[in-house]
Amino acid sequence: MANTVKIPVPALNKEISVSTGLFINNEFVPSVDSSEVIQCFNPATEEIIASVVAGSSKDIDVAVAAARKAFKTSWGKNVTGWERSRLINKLADLIERDAQELAELETLNNGKPVAIARDFDIGDSIQCLRYYAGWADKVTGQTIEVDNKSKMAFTRHEPIGVCGQIIPWNYPINMWAWKVAPALAVGCTIVMKPSELTPLTALKLSELVVEAGFPPGVINTVPSLGSVGGAALSAHPDVDKIAFTGSTLTGRKIMEAAAKSNLKKVSLELGGKSPQLIFESADLQQAAAWSALGICYNTGQDCTAGSRIYVQDTVYDKFIDVLVSTVKETVIGNGFDQKTGGGPLVSKAQFDRVWGYIDAGKAEGAKVVLGGERRNTKGFFVDPTIFTDVSSDMKIVKEEIFGPVLSIGRFKTEEEAVALANNTTYGLGAGLHSTDASQCMRVSGLLEAGTVRDLSDVTASGSIRISSILFIGLGQFI
Ligand code: NAD
Repeated sequence: MANTVKIPVPALNKEISVSTGLFINNEFVPSVDSSEVIQCFNPATEEIIASVVAGSSKDIDVAVAAARKAFKTSWGKNVTGWERSRLINKLADLIERDAQELAELETLNNGKPVAIARDFDIGDSIQCLRYYAGWADKVTGQTIEVDNKSKMAFTRHEPIGVCGQIIPWNYPINMWAWKVAPALAVGCTIVMKPSELTPLTALKLSELVVEAGFPPGVINTVPSLGSVGGAALSAHPDVDKIAFTGSTLTGRKIMEAAAKSNLKKVSLELGGKSPQLIFESADLQQAAAWSALGICYNTGQDCTAGSRIYVQDTVYDKFIDVLVSTVKETVIGNGFDQKTGGGPLVSKAQFDRVWGYIDAGKAEGAKVVLGGERRNTKGFFVDPTIFTDVSSDMKIVKEEIFGPVLSIGRFKTEEEAVALANNTTYGLGAGLHSTDASQCMRVSGLLEAGTVRDLSDVTASGSIRISSILFIGLGQFI
């Protein structure tokens, strides 16, 4: 099976065509040895919208061989940085041209609102591609002084080679762009494995790869189950690097497979349980607005979702009142409905997982102040749910839920706030709300997280914004 399907978009009275084969050497092809398919669902209706070829481990071998050949002959050190830049910019232009249709396809398969997919996910992806296109001809090494007049030392940055890229379902287009852009810019070739839940936009983007003019084999896309294609890529002896975004559990498996095979390089972007601290000086309306966004954006399916909030006890009750009324304004619904602020969860498995946590929160004695009720409708919809009176030993406080579920606790002193925030096995993100600039500086230095955000508004509060991590980077691929 390798052809094209036309997926109906009833809300818009149109169809979107998608190639359903494996994308290898700039062609959509069937599996070499398997008739397995991946069924793609619309999470808002629970209907199957397409079936795509499920790549086997032999298909991964074919894709890796294509990527290796391209690396040796038509990409890597065989093309100038300027030429790589031109092609990446061309790809960005084509994505911009097709942004609306790509967004509609993303909504069909992932559920997120069309306008958010277009303006944020795709808008950011275009910027990301253009940003790295700008770097392609500027990645240079250093000359190093040595203690001898007859010698000179220099370093040169070279592409790693064939990169396996394994991405999750929560931002399928973003994750694709964040992975391919820096790798292409420095001259790596790619075997991309999109999530089995959301492979459609990666296939649509592959059509644009051909149109942009990339040589065959530079970007290959193999939709596959994680335990099949993901595992085969991670263990492959001719893959030089794996760039992975997804769960901590899978990250551990990938690191192990890399170690047991050829000791390939690995970069892992994993989960989070990011704390947000609300100090008594904070503008509570603003803090509530940011906190609502922090848990409702992408329906909470976000690695840096602000899923644990700690509030200074002098403003605790007031903040919760403002937050509950703010969160209530977010409409969870079909992504094709313009009123929708958050779509359904991506799958039945994710839906059941999130409900498991809500049930656990109730059983462990946390108080529900918003949501927590099941809808009696089709679609994997979960309304924002807020728990208060939580304690640090509760499952909903310790574990990443990846849905619109918020836990709120209280603190008396700054020291206590920092201790509560840092009491986690994660360390991806954190945020604080305070109008005291020295407190912002002090606390952001104490929070043990890769990214710390002061989310108060500069002009309204006179406070500052601090941020310190780049999720992606050229350095991963050289
Ligand atoms: P997941 O780990 O289940 O899957 C991610 C990818 O890994 C998928 O493509 C999957 O097919 C593949 N995979 C699964 N098993 C594999 C195996 N044994 N070997 C190789 N690949 C395998 O994660 P998910 O459910 O798709 O995504 C949610 C998780 O991703 C959350 O934990 C979230 O925090 C994390 N995430 C992190 C970031 C970040 O930038 N840090 C961004 C988005 C999501």
